[in-house]
Amino acid sequence: MTTETQNLAGKTALVTGGSRSIGAAIAKRLAAEGATVAITYNGSPEKAAGVVGVIEQAGGKAIAIHADAGDPAAVRAAVARTVEELGSLDILVNNAGIALGGPIGDIAFEDYERMIAVNVTGVFVATQEASRHMQSGGRIIHIGSSMTRYAAFPTASLYTLTKGAVAGFNRSLVRDLGPKGITVNTVHPGPTDTDMNPDGGPVSQIVGPGMAIGRYGKPEEIASVVAYLASPEAAFVTGAEIVADGGFTA
Ligand code: NDP
Repeated sequence: MTTETQNLAGKTALVTGGSRSIGAAIAKRLAAEGATVAITYNGSPEKAAGVVGVIEQAGGKAIAIHADAGDPAAVRAAVARTVEELGSLDILVNNAGIALGGPIGDIAFEDYERMIAVNVTGVFVATQEASRHMQSGGRIIHIGSSMTRYAAFPTASLYTLTKGAVAGFNRSLVRDLGPKGITVNTVHPGPTDTDMNPDGGPVSQIVGPGMAIGRYGKPEEIASVVAYLASPEAAFVTGAEIVADGGFTA
């Protein structure tokens, strides 16, 4: 795969939840920069295979691994398989996420447990396991949410709880991993046109008027921030929370 910049040539990346939407855009972008990419998926095997196909057609290398982010054993196995098949792990992007919720009084405890399992435990386990394999120059990038900065509407308290946990994890992790030469950063997307939050869908009716640039984000616009953080150019950036939200929380 050739592009103007091959910043990530020789690097290997694991993108959780890479079968659709933001995760798929990240996987394709990292591959376009020269990385060999593993993606995980849970419910969309055909779409995961499609992402692998697009990368391979462009001359890159990718693999898809079934791993429910809410299943710690599956996440550990996905990291192990990435290292085994790709030879190393340089970049982890914790993207897989779900958005269950509702008014606080109505949230089912099962939904709370599933949200913690996927959005928090999945991030913790993938990070812990990946950090054991990463060498100096490693990159851990979490996908958070602009909701951690501005709660624009009700019913999202559970979602924001999980993303706030990731932001706190991000900050403290830099002290553990900085001495090993591994950076840890979080990208907080604002409203981005995906299956989870389609432009024109119910959330967009509420948040649309608050977009300073007057439109939803595109998955590729989140992927470009991730690509920068993954690159050698970002070696001195760690513990950062970069908001990419079209000015929604400005
Ligand atoms: P989508 O729902 O459109 O896509 C989610 C992706 O994550 C899919 O590839 C899906 O794969 C995967 N996924 C979901 N659950 C699991 C699971 N249990 N195990 C493994 N993979 C899983 O979401 P977005 O692309 O919109 O969101 C991506 C990230 O960005 C999330 O963390 C989200 O919270 C965050 N975000 C999104 C915003 C937005 O406006 N879109 C705004 C702020 C943050 P599969 O179908 O194979 O299960």
